[in-house]
Amino acid sequence: MSGIDVGRPSTWIPYRSGLCEGCWSGCCTLPVEVSVMDLVRLGVATEDEAAAGLKKLARRLEKDGIVQHFNSRSQIFTLEQRHGRDCIYLHPQTRLCTVYEKRPEVCRKFPKIGPRPGWCPAKRKAGEKEGKPGRPAPAKGTQAPGKKAPAKGRP
Ligand code: SF4
Repeated sequence: MSGIDVGRPSTWIPYRSGLCEGCWSGCCTLPVEVSVMDLVRLGVATEDEAAAGLKKLARRLEKDGIVQHFNSRSQIFTLEQRHGRDCIYLHPQTRLCTVYEKRPEVCRKFPKIGPRPGWCPAKRKAGEKEGKPGRPAPAKGTQAPGKKAPAKGRP
């Protein structure tokens, strides 16, 4: 599984059953694009806040360090990343999701949707200690590979 660069979906490997076991959670280092309903399910926003206006909600979530970007046209939020890489909900030691039951829709569907549907930036956790990916990651969401940040989610 060496040679995998999370920022280059062309280096990813085909997803297969069991691949997530022992993986460094590379997909959780992709920028995660979420809907307001995902944010409500995560418990970081209320339905009342959503109804009052997404731009206002985005400003509050940016201030709280939960969201790094809001696209008002698509109404998609991008979750903040720790050190510009790990999802804020990824446990830094176990590399497991700390909000698994409430995780965003895009995380439930990855890699069926994503920068390269059906393919993963999978590596063993042990390999992760040797070095960090050197490029900005594509995202778990809406943008296409090759653009600034493809996302975990939609191609
Ligand atoms: S919410 Fe959980 S599954 Fe989704 S990217 Fe973050 S740590 Fe990974």
